[in-house]
Amino acid sequence: MTARVIDGTAVARRVREDVGRGVAQLVAAGGRAPGLATVLVGDDPASEVYVRNKRRLCVAAGMQDLHRHLPGDVDQASAAALVDELAADPQVSGILLQLPTPRHLDSDALIARIPAEKDVDGLTTANAGLLAQGRPGLRPCTPAGVMALLDEYDVPLAGAEAVVVGRSVLVGKPMAQLLLARHATVTVCHSRTRDLPEVCRRADVLVVAAGIRGLVGRDAVKAGATVIDVGIHRGDDGLVGDVESDAVAEVAGALTPVPGGVGPMTIAMLLANTLTAARVQQGLAD
Ligand code: NAP
Repeated sequence: MTARVIDGTAVARRVREDVGRGVAQLVAAGGRAPGLATVLVGDDPASEVYVRNKRRLCVAAGMQDLHRHLPGDVDQASAAALVDELAADPQVSGILLQLPTPRHLDSDALIARIPAEKDVDGLTTANAGLLAQGRPGLRPCTPAGVMALLDEYDVPLAGAEAVVVGRSVLVGKPMAQLLLARHATVTVCHSRTRDLPEVCRRADVLVVAAGIRGLVGRDAVKAGATVIDVGIHRGDDGLVGDVESDAVAEVAGALTPVPGGVGPMTIAMLLANTLTAARVQQGLAD
């Protein structure tokens, strides 16, 4: 068996096109084009690339690019003042603080200043709480992108065994909540899990977000399972994930590639969140 390839590049393109149409409708209805304020602190090359892509695709979708760049040695008070300025600016629909920030800054404290309705990364405690309670709110982009891929490929979730590897605030925890909300039976694994392959083999849907290259091999995958590889590692041989993709493709029913799987979905969902935020703020939500 060779796993079906879940084409995140194609799905992300469709999501971005939908967002572009939504932006045009918002403007035609008398609204303002959504504005995305990406905030980059310092000049980490990987973060610069991520932010550049977000800004480019934001403009391509018809949104305003309201990017701000702070020097790497900025103090906490000045960074907080910028977040407060963006929070108060009606042109700004969404604020995204690019992580990680330099070590001397308290990024949690900065995120806490982002109003929930502008928190397009879905990382504030308010939005995490809304997700935990199953109430509407802005969802973290990467797990939301995974859900969009599962839906696009008609992967059954109600009653399915779902295993999430990783429990980060950014990916694993919200991923588990989103799967639970769709009536999957969810197990979350982490660094203290005993016998990871044994737990993973239960999964009809296996989402791997551990940040360890090749952590999940063929022995951890049930025949026919849907495997979503969130991991990204930059090696000499290009980008690879947390899943041993060649071996797993022989047993899985469907598998996301790296690159071209979850990665493009993260930015697409950021744009979708920014449009949602703008609609709500302008009183033009569906
Ligand atoms: P993270 O904050 O480092 O969290 C990693 C999680 O994996 C932790 O919960 C950790 O457990 C768990 N873990 C570590 N070793 C493990 C092991 N041997 N067995 C089982 N679980 C283990 O990472 P993250 O931010 O969630 O990101 C995870 C990966 O996804 C990274 O490779 C990152 O680059 C990638 N990522 C990709 C995208 C995208 O757009 N595609 C977006 C975000 C992240 P403990 O809690 O016990 O430490």
